[in-house]
Formats: sequence, C-alpha cells, structure tokens
Amino acid sequence: MPDARILVADDDESVLTMCVHALERAGHEVVGVESGPEALSRARAQPFDLFVTDLRMPRMTGLEACRALYDLDPDMDMIIMTAFGSMEAAIEALEMEVSEFLLKPFRPSELCAAVERTLAKRQRERENARLRTLIPLLDLSQAFMHSAELTEIPKQVVRIAKEETGASSASVMLLDGDILTIHAAEGLPPDVVAETRQRADEGIAGYAIIHREPLVLDGDLKDDPRFRPQEGARQIETAVSLPLIHKNEVLGVLNVSKAEEGSTFTEANVEFLSVLASQAAAAIDNARLFREIQEAYERLEELDRLKSEFISIASHELRAPLTVLLAYATLLEDQAPGSMREHLDQVVDSAVQLKSIIDDMISLQRIDTGEAQMALTDVDVRAALGRALEELEPLANSKEQVIEMSYGSQATVRADEQMLVLVLRNLFSNAIKFTPEGGTISLSMEEREKEVIVALSDTGVGIPEDELERIFERFYQVEDALRREHGGIGLGLAIAREMVELMDGRIWAESEAGAGSTFYLALPRGD
Ligand code: ADP
Repeated sequence: MPDARILVADDDESVLTMCVHALERAGHEVVGVESGPEALSRARAQPFDLFVTDLRMPRMTGLEACRALYDLDPDMDMIIMTAFGSMEAAIEALEMEVSEFLLKPFRPSELCAAVERTLAKRQRERENARLRTLIPLLDLSQAFMHSAELTEIPKQVVRIAKEETGASSASVMLLDGDILTIHAAEGLPPDVVAETRQRADEGIAGYAIIHREPLVLDGDLKDDPRFRPQEGARQIETAVSLPLIHKNEVLGVLNVSKAEEGSTFTEANVEFLSVLASQAAAAIDNARLFREIQEAYERLEELDRLKSEFISIASHELRAPLTVLLAYATLLEDQAPGSMREHLDQVVDSAVQLKSIIDDMISLQRIDTGEAQMALTDVDVRAALGRALEELEPLANSKEQVIEMSYGSQATVRADEQMLVLVLRNLFSNAIKFTPEGGTISLSMEEREKEVIVALSDTGVGIPEDELERIFERFYQVEDALRREHGGIGLGLAIAREMVELMDGRIWAESEAGAGSTFYLALPRGD
C-alpha cells in the first residue's frame, strides 16, 4: 500500500534516519521527528495515516504521544518500537489500539512489513466500515421509495444522520428561491428551527452550497478565516455541512454537529453523510416532482369535472328547446307549400344534425355517470347493420358511393342492440363523410371461436398512422377544427369505443393516409 502519510518519532537519530529511508523507499510520504511534542505539532499541522514511534523518549513517552495523537485523530494508526519489551507497556499499547509492537533491533524490511500489515488492516477496516454504513442507507433508500411525502424525507434524513454519526444535532435546510429554512431538525432549540431564515450564500451552509462540497469544521468558528464573523453566530465545536445536490441543482444542505468537547467526525462519518446527502437530494427531488405531478393531475381532474358539468348542463338545456323547434318545423314542413317546404327541409335537417350532436353528448354523459343502461342479448349482426344503414343509405346514394356487403351466414353477438346500432351508425356515418363522391364502402364479417369481427372499409381520405389511436379520444379530430369541411364534433368514435368496451368488445382502426381506412369491431359471440 504505497502513498501513505507516515509520521516517525525516535530520539535516536540513526534509527530515525533508517526508518525514514526505508519507508520512503517503500513509496510512502514520511516525516521524521525526534520527540513526542514535535510529533504532536506536526500532526496538528497536517493529517497522517500512521504514527510510528519509539517507546522511550525524553519529555514525552511514545505512549503519551500516541494518546495525544489519538485524541487529535482517532483514525490514525500507531506502531510502537522499543528495545524494552515491557509487559505493562504492551498492555497499555493494546488498549489504545496500537497495531504493532516492533522489538529493536529490527531490520528495515521488518519495519516495512509491519507498516504494510497495519495499512492493509486499516484498509480492510475502512471497507468494513463502508459496508456497515450501507445498511442504514439501504433501509433509508427503501423508506424513500415508499415515502413520496416531502415532509417525511427530511425528518428521516435528520434522524439517520444523527443516529449513525453520534451527532448532537442534525438539520435539513431547503432552498426556496435563495432563502434557506430548516425543514427538519433534531437536537436544536425549537425557536431556532422556526426562526432560521438565511440567504443561500451566508454562513456555513452558504459556504457548502457555493463550493458544492462537504464542509468539515473543527473548533471555533470565529477563528475560521472562511467566514465573516456574524453576530450571534452559534459557536460550534465540530460540524459538517453537506450540500444536497441532485441533477446538478442544489436543493439545500444537511448539517450535523457535535457539541461535546473533543468529539470529531471521522472520515467514515463524512463519507456516510455524503452518500446520505446525495440519496436525500434525489429523494427530495423525486418527492417534489411527484407533488407537482399530483397537483397538475388534480388541476386536470378539476378541469375535466368542470368540462363534464358544462357539457351536461349545455346538452340538457339545449335539448328541450330543440325538441320543440324540431316538432314545429316538421309540422310546418308537412303543411307548407312549394318553395317554403324546401327552406323548412333545411331547417329540419339542421335541427336533426344538432340533435344528434346533443344526443352524443348526453350518451357520453350517461356512460361517465354510469347511467348508461345496457341490456345484453344475442343480436343478429346483419339485422343491426341493416338498421344502422337505414337512415344513412340516402346520404351515401347522394354521394354516389357504392356499399358492398360481403358476408355470408348469419352471426349473432352478445350485445346491447341499441348501443350496437349506434356504434355501427357512427362508423357508417364517418365512412360516408370522409369518402369522396363515387367511393366505395365495403363491409365484411368474420366469425372466430369466441368473437365476431365486423370490418368496415372505405376508400376515403385515410388517417395518419400516429392518429389511429387518438381519433378515439373525446373531441379529437384529425383535421384542424377551423379548416374543417365535415360536420361533427369529434365524439362519435369516443362514444363508440366506450360503448364497445362496456359490451366487452374491442374497436380499432387501420389506415393508410390517402388510401382509405378500415374500422374493426370485435364483439363476443352470441349463443
Ligand atoms: P367526428 O366525425 O364527429 O369528427 P369522430 O369521433 O367520429 O368525430 O371521428 C374523429 C375523427 O376521426 C374525425 O374527425 C376524422 O378526422 C377521423 N375519422 C373518423 N373516421 C374516419 C374515416 N372513415 N376516414 C377518415 N378519417 C376518419
């Protein structure tokens, strides 16, 4: 394991030089000192992975130096070298988790082997620690998956951060614009939680946000040149502030601190908190998205409700006067002389057209409210097709369209007869409407084991492939409503599909733009 930072202390200059050279040759970065106090001041100035020390040194013994360095950094490993293998020293050293005891005189290779063992053990411990940290994170990610509640996630993050790092307080601050407020906290006075509102570029949290990396603070804030002294700033012994970043966007910060004097966050703690912060950021972002989608969905539902209400009121209010109008127009049509009759014919035709639109609206309304009455019986398909065509044949004739029927035997389906006739009428009416003069409309029927499929083809304008499903949506029309040549409001196929589905059937279309369309209707076979 090359590249470790090693501090060696020995008052015997020749041993010290030997150790430093041997370890440097093994690829490590080595600092040699001749006393315990010197070792302490070097360790204060920069972190080391390993401390190798002589046991007997004047001013401060190796064990005392170990203890002082351990207090400074509990992650640092220790190796003790001594010419006197005393039992008491060995026991004391073991209690302090000193990794190795090297008996002088030793060869450089023995020192290197001891160092390698210690570093390898340290590596293993780190990996173990990392694995251990995964357990609460795993629990947490499961909790996040089940909780899309934006208020719950910060609470869980705070609880786990505090529990797993032994912190005295933890909080999650989230950004709203450029203001940070506390959304969950443990170990902080309630008034601080309620009243804290700070700008995103202020204080410790601001520092973590601007630099987009965890900030580890040790000691008095007032001595830290990175922060402007703030009046009333709480004095913090040890703290970590981590930005919550997801998809490159900073959402807030996770703060943890230890108030107890002398306690610090280990590297493993910071690593754990970093993973926690990134998971938390992803979960918060998801929960926000989920909330936005939910709100949009609720708005849509409300709009949909208003639309249905409008259709319902409009259609019912229009129906009554229209019925009166139609009745009198028909009466007058019968009695009117010559040219007047032609005009009245047009009035009646328009009123009939209007009535069919209103009837469509009311049918949909009934389906929506579950009021649509359905009586399933065995229905003769040919008879239903005949009834559907009855009213429409004159229209097809007026456009000189040919209607071809190519089905043989009689087939029955399980359906509501009125609904089936209405569906077929919608399909016929479209076929006639969207097929130019002189075109052909052909009908065929196929009996399968469980269903009967009716196919209605035309030689009309066709439907682009990407619209084949959309035409069954309410009010959807392929042509732009303003440039429309044909009548209708885009409800016929929506009604047809909903009715067919009520009868346990299927309806779909196949087409090639410009080359006609075929509509298929499949219904369960009758007995
Ligand atoms: P409407 O006919 O009242 O517009 P529909 O729901 O019956 O409403 O049909 C929706 C749309 O599907 C029509 O506006 C038309 O663009 C398209 N369409 C339906 N049937 C055909 C067809 N046979 N040929 C071409 N386009 C059709």
